[in-house]
Formats: sequence, structure tokens, C-alpha cells
Amino acid sequence: MSDIIQLLPDHVANQIAAGEVVQRPASVVKELMENALDADATSIKLIIKDAGKTLVQVIDNGKGMSATDARLSFERHATSKIRSADDLFSLNTKGFRGEALASIAAIAHVELKSKQADDELGTLLNIEGSEVKGQEVTVTPTGTSIAVKHLFFNIPARRNFLKSNTVELRHIIDEFHRVALAHPKVVFAMYHNGSELFNLPESNYRQRVVNIFGSKTNEKLVPVEETTEVLTISGFVGKPQFAKKSRAEQFFFVNNRFIKSPYLNHAINAAFEGLIKDGNHPIYFLNLTVDPKSIDINIHPTKTEIKFDDEHTLYAILRSSVKHSLGQFNIAPVLDFDY
Ligand code: ADP
Ligand code: MG
Repeated sequence: MSDIIQLLPDHVANQIAAGEVVQRPASVVKELMENALDADATSIKLIIKDAGKTLVQVIDNGKGMSATDARLSFERHATSKIRSADDLFSLNTKGFRGEALASIAAIAHVELKSKQADDELGTLLNIEGSEVKGQEVTVTPTGTSIAVKHLFFNIPARRNFLKSNTVELRHIIDEFHRVALAHPKVVFAMYHNGSELFNLPESNYRQRVVNIFGSKTNEKLVPVEETTEVLTISGFVGKPQFAKKSRAEQFFFVNNRFIKSPYLNHAINAAFEGLIKDGNHPIYFLNLTVDPKSIDINIHPTKTEIKFDDEHTLYAILRSSVKHSLGQFNIAPVLDFDY
């Protein structure tokens, strides 16, 4: 008899996990920006080169990390966000798996700089394919900068599978939009190959939507507000005449997290029934707030799908409140910009 089972070395396990977490440069953008928000940053800068194939860098002014934590943050299942499985039911952070940085570092060159407010000096850490290449003390502002270079350098098949720069940049901008929409109070900037694509000041929700999608958007928006025992809805739907062929301006956020939900999308479509032509899609930017205990966001590593305890009730409330708002706008005057 001989034993044949072995535990995979960490760097191999990390590479496998990376395949789930990191599909393309936009996945890195999402994970790094979410970490910046979890660190309470009020200003976040995204720097991209060659649609993220050469560089994805996120610089935040959040709470930073100690030297020890900086090192630990790249270990798998290393997280400051939950301590036990119970914490999963009261989450108010974006991250919780402690998987993102370990996965990213397994398949790229990563340079981290981080400093906490009380420290004079920060930490500079270089990692390539899970291997720490250097760690030193450095002068750096409070907060964290993580630069991810040469994504998939050690997985040529993945690298070759990446789409054109136009397509990859599109995915990055989509992620940027989602995060920026969910956090209108946070200042965001984005640069691609040295040019500024977005510069979003601190604002209210309407202004943030308009700053991203253009000043013409303002007149298209109908406010939706509803508070019930199980759910708060706030945000906007587009007036029916501005429905589009594409779904590019459809956004659901649940507890400040972008989600995709064909089911809830259906509720919106039902509210618009008879108001828009077949094949057109309503515009919406809707934030749902629910008790974290009533959702399960742990069903997918990239966390754009969640499970609701009581989907049918949410559906009914959503449909009726959107319908109600649309009805009101027909008789109500156009609302002020600073609504
Ligand atoms: P998770 O977000 O699921 O905890 P990550 O791998 O994304 O896992 O991050 C691991 C840990 O590293 C986080 O829990 C956090 O403590 C720390 N961290 C990551 N990014 C930042 C950041 N920008 N600022 C401060 N701490 C960070
Ligand atoms: Mg994270």
C-alpha cells in the first residue's frame, strides 16, 4: 500500500483560487477598489495602463496597514473583516474571504505601499507569483497604494485569452462606474495611459449619476423612494421615453454592493409594462437596503449574485414603488438638481 494524497503547496492553491477571483484586469480593479472602501478611504485613484494588461494601480487615503499586516494580507484566508462564520451574517464590508490579494499576488507582480496615520514611515513590499521579493521601510502618504503589473505573467493561456484593449477597458470602466455609483460621497479619479477619464467630486446620488453619465441624464431621472419594514429603496428610474436598446444603464445595489438580479430586473420591467417598446430597456439606478441577515452574498467569489430570504416580497415592493414613482412624475413638475 502506498499513500498518494498530498496537500498542494500554497502558491499552487493560490494560483487555482486566482482563476476564480481574477478573470481579467477588471476583476483586479474591483477587488482593489473594494479594499480601499473597506479601509474607509474618502479618496480613491485608479491608474490603468494598456487596459490593465500592463498596470492596475489603486491609491487610497484609507487607514493603511502595519508592516506585519501588509505581509499577512497576501496570505490566503487572511482577513481583518470576519473572525467567525457568524460574522458572515452581519457583514458591512465588501470583502470577507481574504482571498483577493493572495490570488492577485499569485499571478502578477505586486508592489504595495502602505502607511497608517500614526506611523512616520510606511512599508514597501514587492511580491511576484506569491514570492516575496523584498520588503523595506519607505516614505509614503497615509493610506495604501497597490500596483498590479504583468497580470497572468505565469499563466500564458490566460494572458492570451484576454480580449482587445477596447473590450478590457470597457470592463474596467463598468467596474469603476459600479463602485463610484455606490459611494457618491467618496472622491474617485481614473486615468488610462496618462489621460484622465473620470474625476468625480464628493456629491449626492443624483449628481454622481450625472457626473458619470453626462449632464443630459439629469432630466431623464425620476426619483424612487420607499421605506417598508423589510426594505428601503432609493434612487432613480429613467423616464420611459429614455429607455435604451442596451442595458448599460441598469444598476442595482444591495447594501451598497452592485448585484445582478434577473428576477428583480423583471420587477422593474413589469413596472414599465405598456410604457416602453418591446426590446427597449428602462434606465435605473436603484439602491436597496435590507437587513444583512436576510441576504446571502457568499454564493459566488466575485459576489455579484446574492440570495434573498424573501425574493417575492422584494419583487412586489419594487414593482409597486417604481410604478408609483412613474405615475407621480406624470403629474409632478420636474425636480430640482439638488433633490
Ligand atoms: P478581504 O478583503 O476579503 O479581507 P483581501 O485579500 O482583499 O481580503 O485583503 C486582505 C486584508 O488586507 C484585508 O482584510 C485588509 O485587512 C487588508 N487590506 C487590503 N487592502 C487594503 C487597503 N487598501 N487598505 C487597508 N487594508 C487593506
Ligand atoms: Mg478584499
